[in-house]
Amino acid sequence: MILQGRPSSPAASLLRISRRRPAPVAGERCEMCAEPVGHEHAHVVNLDGRALMCTCRPCYLLFGEEGARQNYRAVPERYLSFEGTALDERTWDELQIPVGLAFLFRNSVQDRTIAFYPGPAGATESELPLDAWDTIVGSHPGLAVLRPDVEALLVRRTQDGQDCHLVPIDACYHLVGRLRTVWRGFDGGREAHEAMNAFFSDVQRRSRPADMAGAP
Ligand SMILES: [Zn+2]
Ligand SMILES: [Zn+2]
Repeated sequence: MILQGRPSSPAASLLRISRRRPAPVAGERCEMCAEPVGHEHAHVVNLDGRALMCTCRPCYLLFGEEGARQNYRAVPERYLSFEGTALDERTWDELQIPVGLAFLFRNSVQDRTIAFYPGPAGATESELPLDAWDTIVGSHPGLAVLRPDVEALLVRRTQDGQDCHLVPIDACYHLVGRLRTVWRGFDGGREAHEAMNAFFSDVQRRSRPADMAGAP
């Protein structure tokens, strides 16, 4: 399986945005209607510019329906946990992820699967081969519920194998933006690992088991 590094990709523009805004601050406004929004607020992805937009609840709900004609997609708020391993050992090794944690998401505009993981510059990205996602879903049909552009698969390598969760894509970018500010050295250092552990604990707390009825 050949993986090509892609220094500039749609995810990069999302990252630039999350870097400018590593954590939403009180007093922030909805980027659609300019209503003030609180610290905790929802996001919408603009598929054209790949921008992550802060939204108030009413604006968010406008774009929540699947198959909406607009170029905007509401970022779902669900967290799911999956049994088993999403990436085989060989694929994981080829991604050369130094921190033991990566996100995969589907880019519907390019019809590609992108893997990215936190690093000193924000995130490092790899584009998976064209058929990689089909292969993954073929082995784990439950993963087909992942929505392109707005949800990511969080894969964390453990001593026993992998922990695998479906997470909102804005949560991924918030983590990446936060890690960039504390990153030290090659693997991030103590503070970055503590932040990753805290993030992962939060994901586990929020997750409910995915429906594995479709699994073999
Ligand atoms: Zn609004
Ligand atoms: Zn926001």
